[in-house]
Amino acid sequence: MQPVKRQAFVVGLTGGIGSGKSAAADIFAESGAAIVDTDRIAHALTGPGGAAMAAIRAAFGDGVLTGEGALNRAAMRALAFESQDARKCLEGILHPMIREESEHQCLAARAPYVILAVPLLIESGTYRERVQRLCVVDCPEALQVLRVMQRSGLEESQVRAIMAAQVGRAERLAAADDILDNGGTIDALREQVAGLHRRYLALAATAKGL
Ligand code: ADP
Repeated sequence: MQPVKRQAFVVGLTGGIGSGKSAAADIFAESGAAIVDTDRIAHALTGPGGAAMAAIRAAFGDGVLTGEGALNRAAMRALAFESQDARKCLEGILHPMIREESEHQCLAARAPYVILAVPLLIESGTYRERVQRLCVVDCPEALQVLRVMQRSGLEESQVRAIMAAQVGRAERLAAADDILDNGGTIDALREQVAGLHRRYLALAATAKGL
């Protein structure tokens, strides 16, 4: 008899840069959810000896590698900025690998439900089909700018340029099943996550026919 493939109940977590996705994911994790984070997966794939590095080296040469054999992010960013073909080529290597690894981690997760954190979930299109529910972390744009400037030391214009390349706040909110308002304190975020955690436990149990 074929083993029944376990289907995880997957909640997509997204939001603009600096909205508080990582903060929210950390609180979901403390509550007992499994976290699958596509940013973290991309980092691992492009770290020293990462699974994507052979293909990246073959496509772009040693110039985009660090001494340890990891992706030299600054060099790659400069290349991708100059050439749309280079950016497309890098995405062509990384996106299928990220997709496959995140699917694998969702299926392997041993938790009542999975939070699949994808910064550009709405922009990427296909991830929407892979999640049963979509949770958007939201805060006013001025606060996003401030938080990213404090976190990274970027200039306001640089943060605004990144935000301009992302889907707008209204479109993101329109796509959401659930919204975490992170315009307040971390404690206020924590309280909202606790409420959603209870809801997701119930939804996951129903989805599994428990
Ligand atoms: P994202 O993952 O969406 O880019 P983060 O979770 O990293 O955003 O949050 C951006 C920055 O703002 C981080 O330095 C984080 O510690 C801080 N931060 C997030 N939420 C709050 C909050 N409610 N109050 C104060 N600082 C916050």
